Amino acid sequence: MKNKVIVITGASSGMGASTARKLGQLGAKVVLAARREDQLKVLINEIGDNAMYVRTDVSKQGDMDNLIQQAIGRFGQVDVLWNNAGIMPLSFFEEGQVSEWERMIDINIKGVLYGINAVLPHMLERGDGHILATSSMGGLNTFPSGGVYSCTKFAVRAIMETLRKEVGEKIKVTTIYPGTVATELGHDITSPKVRALYGNLDGIPKMDSEAIVNAVVYALSQPGNITVNDVMLRPLGKT
Ligand code: NDP
Repeated sequence: MKNKVIVITGASSGMGASTARKLGQLGAKVVLAARREDQLKVLINEIGDNAMYVRTDVSKQGDMDNLIQQAIGRFGQVDVLWNNAGIMPLSFFEEGQVSEWERMIDINIKGVLYGINAVLPHMLERGDGHILATSSMGGLNTFPSGGVYSCTKFAVRAIMETLRKEVGEKIKVTTIYPGTVATELGHDITSPKVRALYGNLDGIPKMDSEAIVNAVVYALSQPGNITVNDVMLRPLGKT
């Protein structure tokens, strides 16, 4: 892990922030990307000189290109990109929350594509690299109110599976499929029907972000000739 240059989107909170902290402690050079600069500043102060942040909206292709260029400019290369940013404003189709559907597609799908597009030429030129993305158990199964969210996470699976088949001889490709994790995700749910159905999710078994930190560290710390394709994990009690 030491001195690897690792770019993480969605690093201002939740599993991205926890993983950035851990990777910084392990000696990696971490590049944090998200929109909330205040949170990112706190985090890089905590991690120290081997961390930088770039304000990034993953739904903008130019921002993702800029993120990778800034990372290369500061640290000389990018070894790892974790496309982790995502949102989950759940709603039922009958509620017609079209603008929220579009935001999910822009951030959860296009953000991953823009990240791959920005970093892939650099990694292929070097003949080395590791691209990760966060799908979800919702990327393997659907549930009422999760139609569009699941659609975006199924798409992440399709993108990453194809990427592995295309460049997997040189580039490691890993997809993480978490069950429920205690983070800020879902705080932007506006649907009254979803709120009534799931409340504040207090009764649902959840993992700590630490579980995802361990999964990412596991995937990143394999020997050069071993690649972890998928990591699926869920809290005990959730089937
Ligand atoms: P959080 O809400 O805590 O983190 C989401 C992160 O995504 C934040 O850092 C946020 O930063 C960032 N983000 C959102 N929109 C954008 C954007 N347009 N551009 C850049 N960054 C953005 O939730 P989690 O840590 O749980 O979520 C991380 C990933 O894990 C997501 O892809 C989520 O779908 C997935 N996941 C989460 C599960 C859970 O139960 N928590 C389960 C399965 C998958 P900012 O707002 O500052 O831009």
